[in-house]
Amino acid sequence: MATSVIPNPHPALTLMQAVALGLLRDGFKQRTITARTGIQADTLYALAVLHDITAPCGTVEGHDCHEAREEEPCAPCTHAHGRAHARQHAQRRRTLGAVPRSLRPRGREGRRAVR
Ligand SMILES: [Zn+2]
Repeated sequence: MATSVIPNPHPALTLMQAVALGLLRDGFKQRTITARTGIQADTLYALAVLHDITAPCGTVEGHDCHEAREEEPCAPCTHAHGRAHARQHAQRRRTLGAVPRSLRPRGREGRRAVR
């Protein structure tokens, strides 16, 4: 009698992928995880969904885990994401402010008008 092959629901993780998921669950920054393990953000979040792992809520990583699961981010995660977004925006504004208008990247005005 042939032994039936038990289907494996998840592809086996590489050591680095397993490490990356552990770091994500422990609340490390995605950038730190990518630097340490070489796992890129999109792969990381896809694996997190597959293996039912989430980053702690109230972090940008937590927010991205919600998004990867296609669910509505909870309030702490939304706030964390909003803060990070505002910080990026402020940095960009500061950088652009030092550059004469004529030298600024094209398309930025148009994008603002769309908003
Ligand atoms: Zn959350």
